[in-house]
Amino acid sequence: MPTLSGSCLCGQVTYTIEGQTTAFYHCHCLRCRKATGSGHASNILIKSTGINWLKGTGLIKSYKVPAAKRFTNVFCSECGSPLPRHFPQMGMVILPAGSLDHEPSISPEARIFYGSRADWSCDDDITTFNEYPE
Ligand SMILES: [Zn+2]
Ligand SMILES: [Zn+2]
Repeated sequence: MPTLSGSCLCGQVTYTIEGQTTAFYHCHCLRCRKATGSGHASNILIKSTGINWLKGTGLIKSYKVPAAKRFTNVFCSECGSPLPRHFPQMGMVILPAGSLDHEPSISPEARIFYGSRADWSCDDDITTFNEYPE
C-alpha cells in the first residue's frame, strides 16, 4: 500500500496516509477558491481508512460549510495551511496536493467546476518566471 506524507507551512503538523490514489483534480469552484485563496484547489483523492497524524494534532482545526453536504476545510491553526480531510462514510481522504513533502505518483487528470472558475485563474498563455520577476 503506497504511503503519502506531508506537513503544513509551519511544520508543526505532519501526517502520513496509506491508501490507493484514485484521482487528482484541480477544482475551480468558489468554495475551493475561498479556502485556498488561489485560482483552484489541487486535490488528490485517496481510497483510505484514515489519516495518521504524526504530530500537531492540537493545532488542527476544521470548518464545515453549513450549507454544504461535505465541504470541510481542515487547516493548521498556527499557519493556516490546508490539510488532508477524512470522509469515513466514503472511505476516502481528500488531500491538498501542495501539503505533500514529495512528488505524488499520480498526475492531475482534469479541471473540475471549470464553469465557475475565475476569469483570472490559470491562463497558461501568460509569461512564466522560475522565481520572482526581475
Ligand atoms: Zn502549521
Ligand atoms: Zn472545489
